[in-house]
Amino acid sequence: MEKKRIAVLGSTGSIGTQALEIISRHSGLFEVEVLTAQNQYQLLIEQSLKYKPNTVVIGSEKHYQIVNDVLAPQGIKVFAGSEALDQVVQMESIDMVLAAIVGFAGLSSVIKSLEARKPVALANKETLVVAGELISKLALENRTPIIPVDSEHSAIFQCLIGEHNNPIEKIYLTASGGPLRKFSSQEIKEVTRAQALKHPNWEMGAKITIDSASMMNKGLEAIEAKWLFDLAPDQIDVIIHPQSIIHSIVQFHDGSMKAQMGLPDMRLPIQYALGYPQRLPSPDGRFDFMDYPELSFEKPDLERFLNLRIAFEVMEKGGNMPCVMNAANEIAVEAFLHDRIKFPEMTFIIEKTLEKATFLPQGGYDEYVKSDRESREIARMLI
Ligand code: NAD
Ligand code: MG
Repeated sequence: MEKKRIAVLGSTGSIGTQALEIISRHSGLFEVEVLTAQNQYQLLIEQSLKYKPNTVVIGSEKHYQIVNDVLAPQGIKVFAGSEALDQVVQMESIDMVLAAIVGFAGLSSVIKSLEARKPVALANKETLVVAGELISKLALENRTPIIPVDSEHSAIFQCLIGEHNNPIEKIYLTASGGPLRKFSSQEIKEVTRAQALKHPNWEMGAKITIDSASMMNKGLEAIEAKWLFDLAPDQIDVIIHPQSIIHSIVQFHDGSMKAQMGLPDMRLPIQYALGYPQRLPSPDGRFDFMDYPELSFEKPDLERFLNLRIAFEVMEKGGNMPCVMNAANEIAVEAFLHDRIKFPEMTFIIEKTLEKATFLPQGGYDEYVKSDRESREIARMLI
């Protein structure tokens, strides 16, 4: 059997490194065709020497020379910059693109992948938040699948196998509640970066970890689900499930509910997306009922976690509003991570940016780029 040749975009990140682990485990099935990273050139070099990709892209041009000096003698092609990223995903030799860049920066390469009819294993949820309509259209027109990597969406995707013509009544996205689940509003005001970065169940990149603490992550995921599964906002519900064992639930129109369960470990949804439609064996830990004699559920608190409410409002409003929200959130999270603003000020910045940014009921890629830029400027001024 031919090996599936994979482009790992964002290979130095939390998802990227775990994906490489999966590829190593199943080296008879997968091989690495492309690796890309923004700044971590040393890790990118290390990965390239190990996985021997055909081509490597280092986003930050100042690191090009050193990466090229080491890898060119190995016969590995090296490029730099964001345009190179858009070009490499179209390489003939790629069978699948794993989109694991964080933020708006990952959008363009997903568009190019779909245009080149490369199946996309999608971790980068911001892509669907910003441009869900455009991305869904491209996937449809090019008859190219998007397979979700986000654990909740992977769960729903798995629950929908074999249910092709059966209408979904609603879905329940589960949320751990994050590290601040039990903090009072007063305590949330004074939350430090270290506290917010301490996720109870998952180890992830810094941006998504802060998004989890503020519940923006679940808001982004609701919008992601809307586009992936063609749902109306009122078909999407969020339920707090602190153990993160049930990864999400689909309820059909006969009232039946299907859930996907497992230990919280991103390697499972990553492997599922890479191997789809095949389930591959995994040596990772197994769920033991006696370790979790109780699975519990709570209603999300929209007073303490305003971001979740904002995301649902923005989803209703549509147009470029999710793009504006995403941009403001990226700027706000970055500022919080640099101790420039307090935790609740992230919400303030998002709300104000949504008020001030130009509303566009419809748009294509160029409009999203413009709107993203305008929103970032507004958000920066607010800081
Ligand atoms: P991360 O910060 O650990 O890694 C991000 C990767 O993207 C790095 O390889 C980095 O070099 C690259 N990158 C960053 N900025 C870039 C830019 N401007 N241009 C090109 N490349 C750039 O992030 P992560 O936690 O791996 O998350 C990646 C994506 O997957 C995010 O969209 C996140 O929401 C989603 N996701 C992550 C997890 C998780 O467990 N980490 C779970 C579900 C979804
Ligand atoms: Mg998730």
